[in-house]
Amino acid sequence: MTETQTFSIASIPGDGIGGEVVAAGLRVLDTVAKLSEGTIAFEITEYPWSSEYYLEHGHYVPEGGLEELQGHDAIYFGAVGSSEVPDHTSLWGLRLAITQPFDQWANIRPVTFLPGVESPLRKADDTDLDWVVVRENSEGEYAGMGGRNLSGRGPGNEVALQTSLHTEKGCERIIRFAFDLARTRAVKKVSSVTKSNAQQYGMVLWDEVFTRIAKEYRDVETESVLVDAMSAKFVLHPEDLSVVVASNLHADILSDLGSALAGSLGLAASANLNPEKRFPSMFEPVHGSAPDIAGQGVSNPIGAISSASLMLDQFGLTAEALQIRQAIENVTGAGILPRDLGGDSNTLEMTEAIVAQLEAIHAQTPVPSTVK
Ligand code: ATP
Repeated sequence: MTETQTFSIASIPGDGIGGEVVAAGLRVLDTVAKLSEGTIAFEITEYPWSSEYYLEHGHYVPEGGLEELQGHDAIYFGAVGSSEVPDHTSLWGLRLAITQPFDQWANIRPVTFLPGVESPLRKADDTDLDWVVVRENSEGEYAGMGGRNLSGRGPGNEVALQTSLHTEKGCERIIRFAFDLARTRAVKKVSSVTKSNAQQYGMVLWDEVFTRIAKEYRDVETESVLVDAMSAKFVLHPEDLSVVVASNLHADILSDLGSALAGSLGLAASANLNPEKRFPSMFEPVHGSAPDIAGQGVSNPIGAISSASLMLDQFGLTAEALQIRQAIENVTGAGILPRDLGGDSNTLEMTEAIVAQLEAIHAQTPVPSTVK
């Protein structure tokens, strides 16, 4: 009798193209389960929390919703954003309403250059480029601290304060995470990003913690770079990068730049991790709801499918995760591309091409867990 490992996944497609890219990722997971011949199963529970749901019910996450999510091994998230709800209401109402209470303090965003995908970077043609942005995901500029109308000064005189919060513990855990990640990679280097010349309190604390922790990782090369200089470096010297660790806001901006340099926002994957596993982690493409193409079935599902592969990594299914990434590379390498990458394949066609590759790869080399 083969034993089945069952993983329970909460799926939250959310808004816009979230539904179609999450469906694509689940189709791939379904294939992984099928190919495992009974050794792996995924139990999917879908939650309808979206902006439409908010407009109807007055909230994104209902009472008891977080407790329900907590019962799952992972959360698979699409996107949130709608023209009918202010962006800060939808972001705080759904995405941050999960990442913050579940202390998903490490947000991992690999920047992957795929074969067959043209990058605006000249160097991408003849240089092996591959880096990971590690985003502090629990505090910094997204701490939600501040206020408006401090003394009701009347029309035209409003005052708003938005404060960043940097704690030594928060800096230390994400910087340590980046060093540990660097040790697992071919190029053992961590680049720390701040703006400590202008922001002399929080970001100087970050720099000091980085210098202190670096002393414990003498085998890892380090550099500290200001965020403006790092933006230029992404474009001019991407070959110098391996792990880039930055605050919540800086890393959010840099990872969008990274995925655009890799070819499209539609490619980028992301994992919001609670490394201690006290809470489920959440996996989502970096892109948003893309209202301009929503409902047309033409979105690029690669970011969402790669995010599902990061979820398998977290489940310990590393061979299966690798096979998904290989299947994606085979598909783009064969010139099968979605519209945002200059091709003409729609979401379903891209997904089926990746599924077919996964089956072909599996037929050649079944992963160890499936040949017990
Ligand atoms: P939101 O408010 O939800 O963040 P947005 O439009 O501001 O939405 P994105 O959804 O990230 O931000 O989209 C930015 C641009 O990238 C849009 O033109 C969108 O069509 C494109 N884009 C994003 N994701 C994809 C994808 N998966 N496939 C194709 N194009 C995409």
